[in-house]
Amino acid sequence: MTQIANHLPTAELQALDAAHHMHPFTHGDALAEKGARIITRARGAVLTDSDGKEYLDGMAGLWCVNIGYGRDELAEAAARQMRELPYYNTFFQTSHVPAIALAARLAELAPEGMNHVFFAGSGSEANDTNIRMVRHYWAAMGKPGKTVIVARHNAYHGSTMGGASLGGMSAMHAQGGLPIPDVVHIGQPFWYGEGGDMDPQEFGIMRARELETKIDELGAGRVAAFIAEPIQGAGGVIIPPESYWPEIRRICDERGILLIADEVICGFGRTGDWFASTALGIRPDIITIAKGVTSGYQPLGGSIVRDSVARVVNAAGEFNHGYTYSAHPVAAAVALENLRIIDEEGVLAHVRDVAAPHLADRWAGLGAHPMVDDARSYGMLAGLQLTPDKAARAPFAAEAGAVGLICRERCFENGLVMRHVGDRMIVSPPLIMSPAEIDTLADRAWTAIEETCSIARERGLFSAA
Ligand SMILES: *Cc1c(COP(=O)(O)O)cnc(C)c1O
Repeated sequence: MTQIANHLPTAELQALDAAHHMHPFTHGDALAEKGARIITRARGAVLTDSDGKEYLDGMAGLWCVNIGYGRDELAEAAARQMRELPYYNTFFQTSHVPAIALAARLAELAPEGMNHVFFAGSGSEANDTNIRMVRHYWAAMGKPGKTVIVARHNAYHGSTMGGASLGGMSAMHAQGGLPIPDVVHIGQPFWYGEGGDMDPQEFGIMRARELETKIDELGAGRVAAFIAEPIQGAGGVIIPPESYWPEIRRICDERGILLIADEVICGFGRTGDWFASTALGIRPDIITIAKGVTSGYQPLGGSIVRDSVARVVNAAGEFNHGYTYSAHPVAAAVALENLRIIDEEGVLAHVRDVAAPHLADRWAGLGAHPMVDDARSYGMLAGLQLTPDKAARAPFAAEAGAVGLICRERCFENGLVMRHVGDRMIVSPPLIMSPAEIDTLADRAWTAIEETCSIARERGLFSAA
């Protein structure tokens, strides 16, 4: 079979999927038993599955379809580029127009003083680039001992050996011999889960100072960089206390280490700016990008590099690193068209003035539910905690994530894609969502939470640990 023409019955697709397709982050046998949901088309913020059922996509795919599905302009940009020059590399002293135009455009959009871009095919690859680039930078500065990268528990930086090592997901480290050497982790600024009786701002300072302690323990002569997401995504949409980032910036300056902001989720409008670093006062040396840079229509990632770092790397002889698909011309052409749409259609203003305030309002309303706490959003990122006891901020007596999983399934049944991370429920909707769609999202989420609450009571899961 060379093509699945318009298309096979769902059960046959599921059988072929189970027989031949190994899924990421999935228990293969468990999925085969159940059958995958098969998504066949999408428009705007709405997905359609192989049985014709529609879902409001509260996750923008995987945090990436910022401008929504079904934009012909991106299809046209890809087709035009494929006809003109479908592929060429940027090794061996060559370049091409989409790479040049995209690098220049990103330099315009990036924070002051960040005018250089190294391209990759994904966020994971870009973070692998970052590991090699910061170590190479320090070697070129005559400090080859500065190799350690400090990251955070419960961070997500991708799934390659480098990316997953930087990430702080213990389930990922438990498989495949991770982390790689010279990556260490400090605590996350997750006040709700870990702040206890502390004031949130004091907790933010305390968690930032774990970086200072770690650097002093290792010696600044050993530490190359600190990497973190401005707002943690896959870890559960964790919005740090305001005190956190300025303190991190102070420590990086005083101890002389580079700061990498992984903006794979936060970039390209999700927080209402081109980059979250600006509003949060991060002033990074490198910004990791992927996901929203193409709104997911093509795979593309990269590192936007501060001039002072790029100057040293560019002068240090050959940087022995790159990918066949670095600056892939079709992906770059699609990225340019996506950035044009975000700019010309006022997507950032829509997020700031319309969508994010409305989401904040409706999302906070979910906090009125007796099983919901910590319902907070930042831009078009929102998270809430399911708990049997709000006053105690207590987890369920059940296995972590058991109730969250029920809730995710109830969301699907009610026509909403909402993700669970343990017993936190999270959304990251397309940025172009209308207020009416945000109302639908919140209404369906409420219904799903109500149903989850009943099921949890029935199954005896509704008690505090
Ligand atoms: C998704 C993600 C990555 C990894 O990107 P891939 O394109 O999946 O490799 C890295 N960092 C963050 C913050 C992410 O959310």
